Amino acid sequence: MADPDPDSTAAMPAELNLDVQWIDGTDPDEPSYQTHQLEAHTFVIRQSLRLSPEGPFIFLLFGASRALLLDTGAAKGPAASQLRSVVDTLIDDWLTAHPRENYELLVAHSHGHGDHTAGDDEFIERPRTTVVPGELDSVVEYFGFAQWPAGTATLDLGSRELLVIPSPGHQAAAVTFYDPWTGLLLTGDTVYPGRLYAPDMGAFASTIDKLVDLAAHHPVSHLLGCHIELPRKPGADYPLGARRHPDERPLTMSVPQLQALRKLAAECVDNPGVHATDDFIVYSGMRRRDQLKLLFRSIGSPLRK
Ligand SMILES: [Zn+2]
Repeated sequence: MADPDPDSTAAMPAELNLDVQWIDGTDPDEPSYQTHQLEAHTFVIRQSLRLSPEGPFIFLLFGASRALLLDTGAAKGPAASQLRSVVDTLIDDWLTAHPRENYELLVAHSHGHGDHTAGDDEFIERPRTTVVPGELDSVVEYFGFAQWPAGTATLDLGSRELLVIPSPGHQAAAVTFYDPWTGLLLTGDTVYPGRLYAPDMGAFASTIDKLVDLAAHHPVSHLLGCHIELPRKPGADYPLGARRHPDERPLTMSVPQLQALRKLAAECVDNPGVHATDDFIVYSGMRRRDQLKLLFRSIGSPLRK
């Protein structure tokens, strides 16, 4: 794998700076977005839980000819324009350090849920930018999957070729990106420390099988998903919709944790309901919406006055 910066002689997977304390909603003055640089060509952006209790993570990967923005967050309007400014600044700064002409931006998604696509409109008119809509048809067509959900596709950013893996289960158009340059597996809402909703549990279990298999054949440094929903203390949980996450766990997960999830997922296939371990809470056959409905039924909906 060559360095995305053609001026560099590096050809080894990059070392990642994972030393980061994410904004977690506990400081009323925290910024709407926090940017963390993992290495020269890879950034993670967290959207504040104060903007949305989803507090999603967004990824920006630079290649020699274009960058990939993975997800656009949960906010529309002024907060989304702010994300656009954050991304534009990162791209301008990168281009100052690695000058080149006609550099492009590709906006794609971990999956099509609204808390990952809400900011899309801010990028549609951006020059030299392609936005791949979050729907299954668009994803299949853009990446060129011949037999979705079988097989994989590649996405070349220029000296940085990502593997795109169909990952349905949480949502029909979900994909996972594997990046050989960093060894990262970007798992969206399929794998992260928190509540994993799998309305299609069979598809979800097959997806986890595929990811375990991929990790057996490629060096995976870490898994990075799109949310953190668990505190460090084992067995503890934040209330649904919490806008403060004191003492969050790290975002990074490991291949052994993925292997443990595979075992749990296999057990969940014929057992709809909630299945928890210290690292994951799997909602087999359930959507987040359904869980919210159950919650409101038990406490009385705040909407029903
Ligand atoms: Zn989702």
